[in-house]
Amino acid sequence: MKKIEMTTPLVEMDGDEMTRVLWQWIKEILITPYVNLKTEYYDLGLANRDKTDDKITIESAEATKKYGVAVKCATITPNAQRVEEYKLKKMWKSPNGTIRRILDGTVFRAPIIADGIRPYVPGWKKPIILARHAYGDIYNAVEDRVNAGENAYLVICDKDGKEIRRRLVHEFSGGGIVQGVHNLDASVSAFARSCFNYALENNLDVWFGAKDTISKIYDHRFKDIFNEIYEAEYRQKFEKIGKYFMYTLIDDVVARVMRSEGGMLWVCKNYDGDVMSDMVATAYGSLGMMTSVLVSPDGKYEFEAAHGTVTRHYYRHLKGEETSTNSVATIFAWTGALSKRGELDGNKELAEFAKCLEKATLKTIEEGYITGDLIPLFKREGVTVNKLNSKEFLYEIAKRI
Ligand code: NAP
Ligand code: MG
Repeated sequence: MKKIEMTTPLVEMDGDEMTRVLWQWIKEILITPYVNLKTEYYDLGLANRDKTDDKITIESAEATKKYGVAVKCATITPNAQRVEEYKLKKMWKSPNGTIRRILDGTVFRAPIIADGIRPYVPGWKKPIILARHAYGDIYNAVEDRVNAGENAYLVICDKDGKEIRRRLVHEFSGGGIVQGVHNLDASVSAFARSCFNYALENNLDVWFGAKDTISKIYDHRFKDIFNEIYEAEYRQKFEKIGKYFMYTLIDDVVARVMRSEGGMLWVCKNYDGDVMSDMVATAYGSLGMMTSVLVSPDGKYEFEAAHGTVTRHYYRHLKGEETSTNSVATIFAWTGALSKRGELDGNKELAEFAKCLEKATLKTIEEGYITGDLIPLFKREGVTVNKLNSKEFLYEIAKRI
């Protein structure tokens, strides 16, 4: 076939370890035979981040602002052990954190659903997409231990430090602990708009829960901001496509989600999102089937797999052993980016190719050609299971494109 042409480049962010290996194979086996791939390449592999004093990460985020669509491979966030292993100049920050700060975006995590892979919650038939607010609350908290006989206050001052208001938190007769958390109207508002935009684009109802009955000012502010923005800017657009926004208590949302068949955008405050995203990901099966997209309030997109660099498989790969690493989430990062690029450029062939590659990937799984992580989860009447190595899995997909 004649290869599909691209007009605007994708921002390509390469990464580390096993996912870096898969990255090359995916391009080689599933994309470049069909697409005249045009990317602006940024090597976010740890060695190059160290070499460039992490400037490469900032440049890749700036490029995403310029072109609008990026696809990112998983990357190592260095800790002390990695500093030693890679002889790093310093313990560089998480690239995802850096990119998120520059794009000021919201992360949406969505499971990939295939027939034969049954979620641990049997009622869940459609994906539950989770949006986590990535600013404030306990993640930017100030906290301290308090001794018996000390008192803790919440004190608000003007910019010169002059006290305006003071509230007693507690008079401590015994030792204890105290914590100060905050959030910003602007951050919550941007989060609300990102969520409503994402839901409209993907045809989803929006469920948001917080604890406003207990936290009558703090959590209530989240509720008010979401409601005000929905009423003023979004209600009509949602009603037009037969979708809705619902705010209810977080406990009630949890209960409703468990009883539901999925198919909604579940909006979470920072901590709830941290915890619930791990529960939802696990319940849908493998980390290898979870995608993630960062969407900025002005509509820039960065697609990636939710999992990490799969280090344990990489060490086996280095020893020359075969691995059976699931590449589905990374493939869907590519298809998400190609499809969005196609949509923005009015490039129908490109968007169609992305859908076609997704279908071929699902068909491969549904016909029982799967990687090791899916073996204990897969069950489909009349289908025999074949455990494939990392590369064989990609060739099986290629056969079905
Ligand atoms: P991980 O790479 O997600 O892997 C954890 C375990 O989950 C693996 O050892 C493997 O289990 C299983 N797994 C994950 N993805 C899989 C896949 N595609 N196919 C098959 N099995 C899969 O997490 P980690 O080991 O905690 O972190 C490794 C590195 O990734 C760290 O350096 C961390 O900083 C980085 N990381 C990056 C990102 C990102 O770039 N977004 C996110 C998270 C972590 P088995 O070994 O039992 O098969
Ligand atoms: Mg978590």
